[in-house]
Amino acid sequence: MHAPIRSLMRSAACVLLATLAFQPGPRAQSPTAPPSPSTPPAQAPASTHKYDLLLRGGHVIDPRNNLSAVRDVAIANGRVAAVAAKIAPADAFKVVDVSGLYVTPGLIDIHTHVYTGTGEPGSYAGDNSVYPDGFTFRVGVTTVADAGGAGWRNFDDFKTRVIDRSRTRVLAFLNIVGHGMRGNTFEQDLADMQAEPTAEMARKHPGVIIGIKTAHFTGPEWTPVEQAVKAGTLADIPVMVDFGSNKTERPLADLVTKKLRPGDIYTHVYSGLRDEQIDGRVNPALFEGRKRGVIFDVGHGGGSFLWRIAIPAMKEGFVPDSISTDLHIGSMNAGMKDQLNVMGKFLAMGMSLDDVIRRSTWNPAREIKQEQLGHLSVGALADIAVLRVERGRFGFVDMYGAKLLAPQRLACELTLRDGKIVYDLNGLARPEYQTLPKDYRATGDQRWESTRR
Ligand SMILES: [Zn+2]
Repeated sequence: MHAPIRSLMRSAACVLLATLAFQPGPRAQSPTAPPSPSTPPAQAPASTHKYDLLLRGGHVIDPRNNLSAVRDVAIANGRVAAVAAKIAPADAFKVVDVSGLYVTPGLIDIHTHVYTGTGEPGSYAGDNSVYPDGFTFRVGVTTVADAGGAGWRNFDDFKTRVIDRSRTRVLAFLNIVGHGMRGNTFEQDLADMQAEPTAEMARKHPGVIIGIKTAHFTGPEWTPVEQAVKAGTLADIPVMVDFGSNKTERPLADLVTKKLRPGDIYTHVYSGLRDEQIDGRVNPALFEGRKRGVIFDVGHGGGSFLWRIAIPAMKEGFVPDSISTDLHIGSMNAGMKDQLNVMGKFLAMGMSLDDVIRRSTWNPAREIKQEQLGHLSVGALADIAVLRVERGRFGFVDMYGAKLLAPQRLACELTLRDGKIVYDLNGLARPEYQTLPKDYRATGDQRWESTRR
């Protein structure tokens, strides 16, 4: 591979050179890898390559399509073009050997806080939130939903400030509080919880505002939940509830068996802060709510996941519908860390990898009614994560700093957004520098990568 050729490859006139520069993936030494082709596909012009990128030999987990097996995955024009036991490498412009790794739909984290940059201190519509791109691709996440940072009054600002400028796909649960998550002064103000303007804003942004959020409420009233459900009904989108302070006037049992609609989402389910567990057993109302179609989400966060709640619940069969982080500047540096760490916690509790992936891809996609996401069907957007299961001795920490040891954890090797590699931990798709000319310049090609240097 010659550096001058690489740099010329961005020019359409150089497609032939690009073809000549074809090289197989760098992991041909893997014991389970099929032999890589030793010769490039001769002088065929690039236009004969059916595929831009081929992920070869990985174990594909695609719960929507009931697939968990070794498969090749081919990508063309940003979409999944083929999934098959064997796809000819010669048909692809670029081949990456991912044998020994797991190929999954791009992870979907439906509880994050990414409305940052406003300069407001101590606020989830400000300094407590993070810019998504710094925290997503490195852990296989391609889609996040912000959980109520903005309300109808400041959603436009959130959109121009973060949503439109992120490479991560950013969706939003709109807060029922008009000012969003700007702290107690705003979030306890019943007068600013109005279904109509909230629903109106949601209807203006279909496919971006995908739900309504109520959170952090400390009063005895049902107003926040009732207004959120009303807004969700008007806009035909689900409601996500952080149930705030535990109040006898509005018990959890009534929330999940009476107030929420089927498809509404109860987050922070393993916090134990609101009678999720009674006398060491799962509150029977949660099973009843589940029967009605209420969704139960993890939302780990800085203060919403305890081993002494989660482990007994899992043993009783009360597993989460979706695995989410509640990512913010506090949780990411405390027990939560990131999406893969939270997924690792469920592996540690005995959930199968297939079930963990389902709850981080297809299930959340369905919960937020974005069924074009979260799977690898032919024709789907090629948002893809390539994960490694690492073996060793690892500690997983809960909200009170208690640790569970486990022999495995997940790591992200590659992330693709719209068919382009946007993260490559170990340079799986990259040439070894010794194989390049002394004065080599930028390697790669826009046909399969979208990394910024
Ligand atoms: Zn949250």
